[in-house]
Amino acid sequence: MTTIKLHNTKTRKREDFVPIDPKNVRMYLCGPTVYDRAHLGNARPVLVFDVLNRLLRHVYGEEHVTYVRNFTDVDDRINETAQKRKAAGAEGTLEELIHERSNETIHWYHEDMDALGARRPDHEPRATEYIAQMIAMIEDLIAKDHAYAAEGHVLFAVDSWKEHYGSLSGRSVDDMIAGARVEVAPYKRNPMDFVMWKPSPDDLPGWDSPWGKGRPGWHIECSAMAKELLGEQFDIHGGGNDLMFPHHENEIAQSCCANDTDTMANYWLHNEMLQVEGKKMSKSLGNFFTVRDLLDQGVPGEVIRFVMLSTHYRKPMDWTEKKREEAEKTLRLWNDPDVVGFVTAHDKKPDRDVVEPLLNDLNIHGAIAELHKMYKEERFEQLIRSATFLGLPAGNGEFFMRLKALEQTQNWHEAGEELKFYAGKLNELRGEAMQTKDFSAVDSFRKMLLDAGVEVKITKAGAEAIPTSDYDHSKLEPLE
Ligand code: AMP
Ligand code: ZN
Repeated sequence: MTTIKLHNTKTRKREDFVPIDPKNVRMYLCGPTVYDRAHLGNARPVLVFDVLNRLLRHVYGEEHVTYVRNFTDVDDRINETAQKRKAAGAEGTLEELIHERSNETIHWYHEDMDALGARRPDHEPRATEYIAQMIAMIEDLIAKDHAYAAEGHVLFAVDSWKEHYGSLSGRSVDDMIAGARVEVAPYKRNPMDFVMWKPSPDDLPGWDSPWGKGRPGWHIECSAMAKELLGEQFDIHGGGNDLMFPHHENEIAQSCCANDTDTMANYWLHNEMLQVEGKKMSKSLGNFFTVRDLLDQGVPGEVIRFVMLSTHYRKPMDWTEKKREEAEKTLRLWNDPDVVGFVTAHDKKPDRDVVEPLLNDLNIHGAIAELHKMYKEERFEQLIRSATFLGLPAGNGEFFMRLKALEQTQNWHEAGEELKFYAGKLNELRGEAMQTKDFSAVDSFRKMLLDAGVEVKITKAGAEAIPTSDYDHSKLEPLE
């Protein structure tokens, strides 16, 4: 059997991946909080784990992998939008408007991630649909003395699991207290104790619970959904490395204590951050742009995917214009008419050369290098099969045409900008001619534009110069 090697955060080592049950390999990825459009950084875990999902299915079989990615739809920022809409006179109850905001954001998320060629997970649970399971898990933790209720809150008692808490990020409870910015609250026994349930303010919806009307904390959501859909122990748990502490530590503490197990997931994988000038791209820092911003600027989703996958997932990366240009250039080559001719319908399997680097802790960069080699050596059939497996287009005539059309639009736009200068000059000459009644300069200038494939329109607002398909910039005389 083919062996996948993965860097396990838990052991800080590259390990052979051995699933609990090869007939059902199970993976959980922490998904987005659905209050607004996803920024480009949010797409990084989606794309990295999309490739891992594809690889697992390739090795263990399409039907033998279960991939879960949740939606966190309990969040103050979702509530705020709903409250604003209600204040502005929107119809419906606050609950309905909250639901509407989550639905709208989930719809955008799907649209954007689909455009990046990410396959949808098998399950996409919404936190609000698993409240009963969360409450049951919390009750269980209280019964086992791992948690306590205080002032409408329920907190996990880290001292009840002190020897284990912090093992993922390699910190002890005492170190954490020394270094962390934790919320100090009078009802906490230990400042590191974290909230699993909290009261809902009167003006916001909540759920009935043994501790009063309230809502779950973020960490218990993932513990409950993972248990429900993947079982008490499963194979792979992923997310960005910003989630390692406290989110993942807390998930582990809750799940292991509630389920009486010593592990939640056997392999923990964390992607590094997408950065902007050395800082994590994030909404709170305001240094972000969304996936939709790029798509709307005309950057094809396939190009975004190519750029995002070109840096190893455990290295920080920047989005740059140069990387975009290079990715576009490569995809143009892989989809040009020469390659399109090699499309064969029957075999969709990737080539061994491309799978090999992926087995080594998802060396996607190495896999892409193999694709470049295949193109260079004109092994087009292999290129198409292997690129398609990675979700990248190759031998796709329709995609090539899209790139061509895009290029034309870009050129069109550039030509339009360029010609504004010539239209201005023509207006100037016309103004002078009106005075002198000598139109010869206007006529020869117009002729020069026509010869360069530029249509001239004279309206009340003045002259307009429009490029036609014969537009040839080199035929325009340089002007002072
Ligand atoms: P959030 O909605 O902020 O909880 O993030 C959803 C997912 O995106 C989590 O797995 C985060 O780790 C990940 N994430 C957030 N910001 C970045 C970033 N700049 N680069 C890579 N991953 C990120
Ligand atoms: Zn999570």
